[in-house]
Amino acid sequence: MKNAWLLIALITLPLAAREQPIILVDGGRSTYSICISSEASPSERRAAEELQRFLEEISGAQLPIVTDAAAVSGDVVLVGKSDALDRLRLNIPFEDLGPEGFALRTAGRHLVIAGGRLRGTMYGVYAFLEKLGCRWFAPDASRIPKMSRVTVASLDETQKPAFEYREPYFTEAWDKDWAARNKTNGAFTRLDESTGGKVQYYPFVHSFYEMIPPSQYFREHPEYFSLIDGQRRTERGQLCLTNPDVLRVGVASVLRWIASHPEATIYSVSQNDWTGWCECDRCRRVEEEEGGVHSGPLLRYVNALAAEIEKKHPDKLIDTLAYWYTEAPPSQVRPRRNVRIRLCPIGACDAHAYEQCDRNAYFMRNLKAWSQVTNQLYIWHYNTNFSHYLLPFPDFDELAADIPMYRRYGVVGLFLEGAYPPGGGAENAELRSYVMARLLWDTNANVDQAIEEFMQGYYGRAAKKMRAYFDLLHRQVRFKPNGLGHHLWIYQQPGAPYLDRDFLRKARGLVGEAIRIAGDDATRQHVRKAELSLEYVELSQAKQFHVNQALYGPSDLAALKARFETFVKDARSFGIQSLHEGRDLKDDEEEFSKRIKPYSVLTMENSALRVILAPELNARVLYLTDIRTGQNLLREADPGERGYPDLGGLGLFVFPDYHARPCETTWKVLASSASEVTLSGTCPNGLNLRRTIRLKGNEPVLQTETRVENGGRDALPVALQARAEYSAGLPEDPRLSLSFTRQDGEAVDRTLFSAGVETSGSETYLAEDRPAGEWRAFHRQAPLKFVNHFEKDGVARCAMNWSVRGENRLSLALWSPQRTLAPGEGFVFRTDYEVER
Ligand SMILES: [Zn+2]
Ligand SMILES: [Zn+2]
Repeated sequence: MKNAWLLIALITLPLAAREQPIILVDGGRSTYSICISSEASPSERRAAEELQRFLEEISGAQLPIVTDAAAVSGDVVLVGKSDALDRLRLNIPFEDLGPEGFALRTAGRHLVIAGGRLRGTMYGVYAFLEKLGCRWFAPDASRIPKMSRVTVASLDETQKPAFEYREPYFTEAWDKDWAARNKTNGAFTRLDESTGGKVQYYPFVHSFYEMIPPSQYFREHPEYFSLIDGQRRTERGQLCLTNPDVLRVGVASVLRWIASHPEATIYSVSQNDWTGWCECDRCRRVEEEEGGVHSGPLLRYVNALAAEIEKKHPDKLIDTLAYWYTEAPPSQVRPRRNVRIRLCPIGACDAHAYEQCDRNAYFMRNLKAWSQVTNQLYIWHYNTNFSHYLLPFPDFDELAADIPMYRRYGVVGLFLEGAYPPGGGAENAELRSYVMARLLWDTNANVDQAIEEFMQGYYGRAAKKMRAYFDLLHRQVRFKPNGLGHHLWIYQQPGAPYLDRDFLRKARGLVGEAIRIAGDDATRQHVRKAELSLEYVELSQAKQFHVNQALYGPSDLAALKARFETFVKDARSFGIQSLHEGRDLKDDEEEFSKRIKPYSVLTMENSALRVILAPELNARVLYLTDIRTGQNLLREADPGERGYPDLGGLGLFVFPDYHARPCETTWKVLASSASEVTLSGTCPNGLNLRRTIRLKGNEPVLQTETRVENGGRDALPVALQARAEYSAGLPEDPRLSLSFTRQDGEAVDRTLFSAGVETSGSETYLAEDRPAGEWRAFHRQAPLKFVNHFEKDGVARCAMNWSVRGENRLSLALWSPQRTLAPGEGFVFRTDYEVER
């Protein structure tokens, strides 16, 4: 009997598959109606309307929408939960599908699209339309096939989203229809009640000072705020998270947020967007108990707050960040049930799958550690160049690998931060949003096919050329032997190694051909917009300053200016209003007219060194060149950097104290010769400076001596900083190094980056940790070392910061003691720089 039953099953299965397909439309006519419940939710109603609309666009047939209150008979497409659906007894697993999942079924002559009432049925309709060939690539580009006959073969499948929170954060992805059709549910989209709403945050992030405003509390309660360097501060500070009153006030604020924003489901209690954690004894003790990490006091605080909130609002979630100084997880405390951690790989290389790039080993360690302590982890991922929204950003291999990787580590929500200015326009914003949306729904989505379809739909006849350009760009970063193996960073400059001359030439060729064959205007506009990225890179590179005689400036200012103006006009014609995070296009115009011009320079030279100094650029030494090798040891800024050309090199900066902003100083040349320059400097507050920079005989040594004096009538605080930015070149080899002997006699000799640590960092050495009179910046593969000598007792702190992200930069900053000068009082600060073989 058993065998006979099996035989029947084997026979009926293929028969079922050969079941007559449903003929939804034939010859532009349909016998079907779309049936929804008379009590349909707003998104179920929209689902029916969208199905009707697109079936008509596809076939010319308009299927009527009927409710199951009327007698339903004949051929029906059942959309969403309804009495009519119940009568079919199909056992659709609504419980399992949750609010966003759905089932697609054929049942006899009927078609069923039904899922969660919140958004599930609506997503089911879009998934069904995709099966017919529909694609919604961008708000201004979709593909809706045309056919007079629409048939549906036997269907029986269910789908649920890979992540509960899915947010591609690009201006282009906020469009309501695009977001609904591509099944994203992000906080910033224009999704509304008609689309079943979305995931709602309040506030979204960096909320410490919104929760406890310094303007309201600092005067009476400085102890609520970070203790930094022995003082309670709010500028560049955070909160003292172990103070019980900070918890009490924080809870009250969050309760107020919930009352004023009841629509939100998740409330963010998260650190400000800078460092400045509290250094008080209590906070430090908690850090020690939690494995020596700053996330310890943070998570204990957020947990305690979430426990209080839960008493009145058990359904609300509390969000916080594992970001920057809190990226590593604590060793003891675990996130509560109603807490969501957003882990942020801000220091990662975005060219390569995180598991495959040694630059990202530090992040994978943090991700693994967090995934072991919570199964509710969210990720804040980065997907654009925030310094240059238009810069080509080849991160598609990385996205295709890492969105599925996150799911493997149990991540349940993804905020994919791209470019979000009004007007949008970031490089590949549409394609990136499209691919991300597909992966957020289904981590098994075929990315290559999605890119190919997008190219066809978006670039039409130019698709092949644009795909070739896309592949060329990605070969710049793919590991050898498939590509050149460059890494990719979110604040990289247009002079980045992966944007080399050879790439630009080939890319221009392909995009130029694409424009020629584009055919229609819409396609040509799409290609021209892509071309704008290449123009942006070239324009930025063309801004490069050079020394010519006694002037430092761009080689052809008039031509550069004309090119810049054309570029800005073109950018505006595409609706672009911003090229960098937080800055308007107008800022670029102002910055260009203010800074891009020739500056006078002075040259000093002996038989070992050539030194070029720009008095108007903060009296900066721009070049310190070893004559024998021609190598400049100072960092030359990229023309894309904000503030260019007043950046890089070596200089002297005046501060009121170690933590405040520098005083603006105006410098004048008092005397100059081939071996010595003397400058006078004035600050608006009345500090006067006299700075001498001289070459020491014929030695490879540059000596500096600065006297500061209070020329005003009141006492003035001052701390001088002598800062040299060393650059090692060799951007592909990250073996940037620092060595010195500490004042307690211990020798330090470090290669700064190695697998498992971040690719940039900063450290401050105090007391016995300070170098004993000199420190060296060098590269293991470069012949020359850069040595900074100083008087041990004249330097209170030594601060360094470094990066190997597409460069090898190590900045050495020496601070004088912080002093308050009486009128007429002053002191002298000396530091020397030597090039050592
Ligand atoms: Zn504290
Ligand atoms: Zn990499």
